[in-house]
Amino acid sequence: MRLLHGALRSYAWGSRTALAELCGRPSPSAHPEAELWFGAHPADPAWIEGAEGKISLLDLITDDPDGQLGARVAPRFGKRLPFLFKLLAAEEPLSLQAHPSAAQARDGFERENRARVPLDSHVRNYKDESAKPELVVALGPFEALAGFRDPHETVALMRAIDARSLDTYVHLLDGQPDASGLRALFTTWITLPPPALAILLDDVLDGCVRYLSGSAGDSVRFAREVRTALELAGAYPNDAGVLASLLLNRISLQPGESIHLDAGNLHAYLHGMAVEVMANSDNVLRGGLTPKHVDVPELLRVLDFEPTPMTVCRSTPTADGRGGRFVANVDEFALTWRECVADESVPIAADGGPGIVVCTSGTVELQWAGEPTDPARAGASVVRLERGAAAWISASDPDIEVRAQTAAAQVFHVTVGSLHETGKPAEV
Ligand SMILES: [Zn+2]
Repeated sequence: MRLLHGALRSYAWGSRTALAELCGRPSPSAHPEAELWFGAHPADPAWIEGAEGKISLLDLITDDPDGQLGARVAPRFGKRLPFLFKLLAAEEPLSLQAHPSAAQARDGFERENRARVPLDSHVRNYKDESAKPELVVALGPFEALAGFRDPHETVALMRAIDARSLDTYVHLLDGQPDASGLRALFTTWITLPPPALAILLDDVLDGCVRYLSGSAGDSVRFAREVRTALELAGAYPNDAGVLASLLLNRISLQPGESIHLDAGNLHAYLHGMAVEVMANSDNVLRGGLTPKHVDVPELLRVLDFEPTPMTVCRSTPTADGRGGRFVANVDEFALTWRECVADESVPIAADGGPGIVVCTSGTVELQWAGEPTDPARAGASVVRLERGAAAWISASDPDIEVRAQTAAAQVFHVTVGSLHETGKPAEV
């Protein structure tokens, strides 16, 4: 068990206050801080302070996969840590994006290797061979767009916006209110030549303003969706992602609520702070709302156009009632959170595999609840975590207890997913 230092990622959409305040650093920060990565992704691994100085978690695992990941986990995931844990702070919307399935990722990775696109090139889509299922748990109010909305609802939204240049598209979707209709509409919009896009956007945004003014009657039913389109247009003028936003579910999460994103799910996070756990991958296909590389044909190849209501879930309470588990039903990760009050200890089962514990509120001490399976490999028997700090738990570590050092404290614990996990997500 060792203190794990995260890799701070600075993107333009990040917050200058949220992560700095969570981690107790001076706020506002010099640059927007978007994500704090706790994992072993080659692009930006977290690190520990070893006897010989700084060692990346990636090197630690590569040098000793069986000891760090365990004999059960190491062969199952090609001696790689299968998950990546992020603290995410969005001040501005993130790009409109989707992630590939495992088969699409393997195929795309090979294709770009054959085409000799360097791994660090900004036009490279596939940075690795993994799928990237994502679980997002809100730490505060969190706003997102995710998954295609029921087309009947979208037709009603477009009618409410009442822009003449939308008429053709309303007819298109109304005549084919299913995945094929959504594919046709999205493909048309995302590939419109810029002059035609500018005319359509102008008209649609005028309609959005009229809708909110109430001049056409109702101004309530789609207020959130319409306001989001206007905000996105303010941040990304002349971007087809603004139109695409009208097709997606507009989701507001309260703290503790989560959504799960499978391969092919089109999404854009809009605002707020969250815990994000995903397979250890950086494969992102972008469709707009970003200055980064956009590859529309490749995005269209991986998108799942099947309408989905995007179920918002809470965690399922743990047996002792001191936390909850998010049922994600993926191989790569499982996520639980634990809460304790001053001087109280709550056990965390290490499960014979690796884990990362991140403190999100208060201060805690993690301590061994037993003897390590291999004392030669194990680290410290006590690690103190302030808010925003994390610990690496290797497979050689024993079970652990969390003890709050403040009136109350909360930690998140990510482990490898169980192939045998059963249970239904707790729908909100
Ligand atoms: Zn994503």
